[in-house]
Amino acid sequence: MKDKIVIAQAMSGQVRIHAARTTAMVEEARKAHHCMATSAAALGRMLSATAIMASDLKNPQEKITSIMNGHGPAGTVLAQADGAGNARGFIGDPSVYLVREDGHLAVGQAIGTDGTLSVIKDLGLKEPFTGVAQIQSGEVGDDFAFYFAISEQTPSIVGVGVLVNPDSSIAAAGGIFIQLMPGASEEAIKKCEQVASVLRPVSSLIEEGLEPEEIVKMYFEDAEVIGERDVRWHCGCSRERFRGALKTLQVKDLQEMIDDGKGAEIRCEYCNTYYNFTPAEIAAILEERSAENRLG
Ligand SMILES: [Zn+2]
Repeated sequence: MKDKIVIAQAMSGQVRIHAARTTAMVEEARKAHHCMATSAAALGRMLSATAIMASDLKNPQEKITSIMNGHGPAGTVLAQADGAGNARGFIGDPSVYLVREDGHLAVGQAIGTDGTLSVIKDLGLKEPFTGVAQIQSGEVGDDFAFYFAISEQTPSIVGVGVLVNPDSSIAAAGGIFIQLMPGASEEAIKKCEQVASVLRPVSSLIEEGLEPEEIVKMYFEDAEVIGERDVRWHCGCSRERFRGALKTLQVKDLQEMIDDGKGAEIRCEYCNTYYNFTPAEIAAILEERSAENRLG
């Protein structure tokens, strides 16, 4: 089943709902970073929330980056998604496996609560917009809800969840955002409060096979779907791009890579892909550089 994000409105446009299935995206992220269960859930929740936010972007090249650093054992968790539905990200320590007393994965404990959630919106303007909020529980959903309340003045219910199989593969992942639009009536507020009290974990609903639009309709009978977006794990890095980065290094550093006979090994931190450049390739880069300098 393909991942997707459904955007809907209810109560005459006073409530906006996003529901997403992100199982395949989170599974790709887990495999790329060789994550253990709790790290996989933490990264998967961040990717899901960020991808849902990015589904509102107008242009494919616009992007949103979310960074959570709660000083827990998982370290910094970063997720980035663009207006074309591509998402990528990483977690400081992919090997965290922490379980709560009730048997659930201890995502909050892994991320920690001593820090902030930052959201950077790059809309192609001179300056990106950055919003920051204190981490509440480290469970991600609560933290995004708090962020929306204080940084964007949008009362929100945020649920993001990842179910991990015993072999660490992803059984189901998804997210739901329920947001009150400005000027929402008392009736709309009451309805959202009622929905919040009966909200089931979105990952369980996805695992049961519900489509995102069915999840929306489950809570808001009058909801109408106003948009649908694809979402996928895709980094977009390339050998060419890293070759370009090598070219900007100092001549003496490049010369050193040639002289020690090892060349260069560069890792993309977003997708964990390694790019190797032999001493001969570095020599060619150095040669191109000198040629360009002579021309310049
Ligand atoms: Zn990459």
